[in-house]
Order: sequence, then structure tokens, then C-alpha cells
Amino acid sequence: MREFTLIPVTTNDKKAKKNSWTLSEFCSSEHSGTHIDAPLHYNREGWSLDAIPTHRLWRRPGIMVDVSEEVRTSMNPNFEIQPKHLTEFEIKFGSIPDGAVVLIRTGQGSKVRNITAYSGLDRNHKMNHPGISKNAAEWITTHTNNNNPPTHNHTHEGIVGVGIDTLSLDKGSTLHYPAHAVLFNRNIYGLENLANLEKLPPTGFYITILPLNIHQGSGAPARVVAETGDTIALHSAAVPTCTLTHTVELGEFCSSEHSGTHLDAPSHYAYNKWTVEKIPLDRLWRVPGHVNHILTSADLESWEEEHGVIPDGAVVFVRTGWGDKVGNIQDYSGVDESGKNNFPDQVNRISTPSEPSL
Ligand SMILES: [Zn+2]
Ligand SMILES: [Zn+2]
Repeated sequence: MREFTLIPVTTNDKKAKKNSWTLSEFCSSEHSGTHIDAPLHYNREGWSLDAIPTHRLWRRPGIMVDVSEEVRTSMNPNFEIQPKHLTEFEIKFGSIPDGAVVLIRTGQGSKVRNITAYSGLDRNHKMNHPGISKNAAEWITTHTNNNNPPTHNHTHEGIVGVGIDTLSLDKGSTLHYPAHAVLFNRNIYGLENLANLEKLPPTGFYITILPLNIHQGSGAPARVVAETGDTIALHSAAVPTCTLTHTVELGEFCSSEHSGTHLDAPSHYAYNKWTVEKIPLDRLWRVPGHVNHILTSADLESWEEEHGVIPDGAVVFVRTGWGDKVGNIQDYSGVDESGKNNFPDQVNRISTPSEPSL
């Protein structure tokens, strides 16, 4: 498998002008670093990456089953998670809600910086690490929860995804990959090489998975985010979050960093400014769109270009769309955690834009 490599095309440095281009290409396996396994990865008829419905990746109730202590004391490098670990979890912490993503913490993730220890590579070049047993995978696919109503107005979905802090859903010594087969036959996706699972509580958090949207991909490096706050504030970007992703260093596809729909990090054209992994998560995550938008003269000019000159003596109506929220005063006033209101501004505060936007 191809290692993840970053190939500089051009890079800015101290000697260059402050604003000059930084740009790399990268080559990677679809299964490098923290990544998602699409069901297609081990099931010809399963969903490819771009076929997984987005709502299955977005703000799912998370469950963290911690077997790390049992793995440690078992001294079994190919420890398998059994159905009893899941039923014991439910007795202790309540039933797994419909539509959940189940995360398994084996403790193997703490070895991630030493690839030999992490993969458990032995003298015969075979891998040895914990994984999910066939029986536990079957338990997961047949889990239906009739005590809790289904989320997102969908019918019962059962468990939609399973994640682990090892290289694979299956144990390292496996020959037949039963966990992959059983889960993917039911279009349940996988998450591998997860980071920071020790920071999660057993229940009471949301999981969002943000993979590259590779056409017909079998998987992709993904940013996996857990929201761990008790209450989710409507208009606040300051929701406590935890990144469950290692930066991609483990390790086929080659791409410019600037292919398809993509993000420009400030370092792309400014020396010493943020590279992608330095951008604080709350600037990427649930940032309110168009809240506190101020109508500018540029908005009116572009309206006139399209529809003709505003006649003398006209009354100008501004539709922000905000009125749709009028049934809920909290949404409509956009009141945030500090008691301030947030909504698009009035026409009487026309300002000129301070900076051109590109
Ligand atoms: Zn994979
Ligand atoms: Zn896998």
C-alpha cells in the first residue's frame, strides 16, 4: 500500500515575500491514518464512500465501549471483543440508542507512534492487535432498540457505524475478516485508527465523520469529531469538541491539496500562517452561516445589475429568510450563550465592505 506522502510543488519561506504560494500534492491509500471504511471495501454490493447517506455521518449519538483494561490483563495480542462486552455495557450505561456509532477502545491506540508495536508485527511479518469478533459484529447488526424513538425522523436504523483504535476492525491475526464481512453486509461503516478515545465518556456525546468525498471510494482519511458538551448551544460555535483523528502519517490516490471542493489554509499564500491542521476546529465546525450578515452597497449594486435601477421613491424590502424562524423566539432573536442577539442587519445600516472578498 502506498505511504502517505506530501510532495511540495511550491513553498514559501522566510526569504520569500510574505504572500507567496505554498502548495503540495499528496499520495495516499484510501485507508491511511484515521479513516472510514465504506461497506464497498469488503462487500461488492455495499455502499461506496459517496453513496453513504450524509445523515449517517452527521451528529450521530456516540457510544464508547472501553475494554482496554481487559485487553491489558488478558495478555492476548489478538483479543476479541465479544457480545458480552456490549451487553455488559448496556446493563451499566443503558441501551444503545437507535442510529448510534459504537466506538471500541482497546488501548492499542496509545502505541500509534511506534508502527511495529501498533501493528503488533511479529517475526513472521504477521500483524497482532485486538479486534471485533464475528459474534460481536453479528450482535451489532441485529441490535434494534425499541425503547428509544428513532432519530432524524428515520425509521429504525440500528447501529450505523463502528469505530476502533486499531489498524482494523478485525483482530490482527485474522484470515477471513468476519467483522468487516458481517458489518458491511448490512452497510454499517467502519472507522479505524481512531485517536483520543480515552477522552470520551461512555455515552452522551455526538459523532460526526468528515471524509473526503471520493467518487466510488472504498474509504478515505477522515476527520472524526466528537461533541462532548452537555447542552448543544444553538448559535454558539464554542461547543466542546474533541478530534478523534490522527494527522495522516501512516501508510492510493494522488491529488493536489486543491482538488475538488477544498479548503485553502492561510499558509497557502501567507508565510507562517495557519496550515490546515492548525486551524482551530471551532472555525470549521458549526460556524453560523450568514448570521450577523450586514447588507452592503455591493449587495444593492449587484441587485441593480441583474434587475435594473431601483426607481426614485422606491421602498426597498430586504428578505433575509430569517423570518422563517419567527415561530421560535430563541431562534428568531438568535440569542447566544452570552445573551446577545444574532441576526442579519437592517437596510438602514448600509456599510461598504471593508475588504474585498475573493
Ligand atoms: Zn480501512
Ligand atoms: Zn478495515
